[in-house]
Amino acid sequence: MPINDTAERPALRPVPAGTAPADGELSWQETALCAQTGPELFFPEPGSSTREAKMLCGICEGREACLEYALTHDERFGVWGGLSEQERYALRRRRAGRR
Ligand code: SF4
Repeated sequence: MPINDTAERPALRPVPAGTAPADGELSWQETALCAQTGPELFFPEPGSSTREAKMLCGICEGREACLEYALTHDERFGVWGGLSEQERYALRRRRAGRR
C-alpha cells in the first residue's frame, strides 16, 4: 500500500503500532491493491476523479473488509473499499436508517 507523505492528508491505511498486519481486522491490508499505487489515486485532490481508484477497489480481494474498516473507524478522507467520502457517508446514513 502506498505511503502517504503529504502533510495535509491522513496516512493511508495505517497499521497501529504493535499490530501484526496478518491479524484480525487488518489482514485485508496484505493484499491491498492500493499498496501498489501512489496515494494520489486514493486521496485525489478535491474535484479530481476517483474512477481509477474505484476500478482497483473493484478487483481488490479485501474490498469488503476495507470498506467495513473505514466505516467502523470513521475514515473521512479518500477512497476506501471502492467508496468515496460522500458515498461512505450516504451508506452510513442508510444503515442508520434501517435500525
Ligand atoms: S478496496 Fe481499495 S482502498 Fe481498500 S485495500 Fe483494496 S484497493 Fe485499497
